Amino acid sequence: MTPLPVESRPLEQCTGAILRQDVYAERDNPPFDRVCMDGIAVHSSVLERGVRRFKIEATQAAGAPALALLGADNAVEVMTGAMLPGGTDCIIPLEEYDLADNVVALKDKATGAPFRNVQRRGSDSEPGVPMLTAGTRLGPPEIAVVASAGLATVKVSREPRFMVISTGDELVEPGQPIEEYQVRRSNAYAVVAALRRRGFERVGNDHIPDDERTLCERLVQHLSANDVLILSGGVSKGKFDLVPKVLKDLGVAEVFYQVAQRPGMPMWFGMAPGGQAVFGLPGNPVSTLVCLIRYVVAAMAVAMGAARVSPEPLPLAEPVKFHRQVAYFLPVSVRYDDRGHAAAVPRPPNGPGDFLALTKADGFIELPPRSEGFPEGFVASFYRW
Ligand code: AMP
Ligand code: MG
Repeated sequence: MTPLPVESRPLEQCTGAILRQDVYAERDNPPFDRVCMDGIAVHSSVLERGVRRFKIEATQAAGAPALALLGADNAVEVMTGAMLPGGTDCIIPLEEYDLADNVVALKDKATGAPFRNVQRRGSDSEPGVPMLTAGTRLGPPEIAVVASAGLATVKVSREPRFMVISTGDELVEPGQPIEEYQVRRSNAYAVVAALRRRGFERVGNDHIPDDERTLCERLVQHLSANDVLILSGGVSKGKFDLVPKVLKDLGVAEVFYQVAQRPGMPMWFGMAPGGQAVFGLPGNPVSTLVCLIRYVVAAMAVAMGAARVSPEPLPLAEPVKFHRQVAYFLPVSVRYDDRGHAAAVPRPPNGPGDFLALTKADGFIELPPRSEGFPEGFVASFYRW
């Protein structure tokens, strides 16, 4: 896959984006010795001398410069998030004392030790070491880290522009009248939904009949305006499966055609002269969705520069008989036992057209080619819809 270009984007538009720069701390983290309980700040050595009553000299709020303790046996009232006042090294939380007439009387349980309830300056990150590295996906915690580094914009991968294209003269849009010999155009909806669920927003959608000239004209348009074309249908060996031929005529170089897998054997993949990726997914609905997730989604992570994410491992809840020397994508639901351990319960469809069966599954597992079948507990890679 051709890597997607880097762009600078405002931080609030970066949820789910892939970082393309390292992010360093703007300052030490925390940036100062930080009070982490509401209470009083004192010097711990005073408690060692047996002092248990303190006069409150001043109040130190968060967001204000550090005060300094004037009388060594006094205290400064402090709030969570404030700077540690000068001349103090310990916070006694307010549950551990009684306060009357501006004088604190420590309860018996109150103790003091250097830096008790203080987060030391620089203790959360090491200077010079990036807090985040290129390839990281920006979820809520990562977004907070970028904000803490003081960055209002950040370098991320540009969003890919997808065009989802269904082919087939038999297909009819939902909402339109349908004849006995026609089929609803369901695949394109599933593909768009799977992409949107993964945070992709630039997703167009078209339908092209099984006609060579029309296919040719429309694919030229779509190639000029998109990074990735996802076609469904028209890649098998039937008389009207025109997709591989038309793509070849348009100069899209075939990278592979037909994969030793079930379902989805006829899958086609090629690269256009401008670097656009073209996926020809088989039209059978189970094949389309499985191939989309297994190949297109995985390829996009690479194109966006994501650090490799390995698929979730999941053990089989029961044995599976499958003896063909091809990869087997098996829809499964996830079941948890009373100890919270997850396992894959097979939900095999009646065939590659049985997309209704997929609603009973949470995703699918990939079982490798193997002639002896798969025992219960066999650990496979799990992909969610
Ligand atoms: P094809 O790969 O074009 O030979 O199509 C294989 C099967 O999938 C045929 O039964 C098609 O009618 C069906 N099919 C193709 N495209 C779609 C689609 N977008 N939605 C639902 N079914 C489809
Ligand atoms: Mg077709």
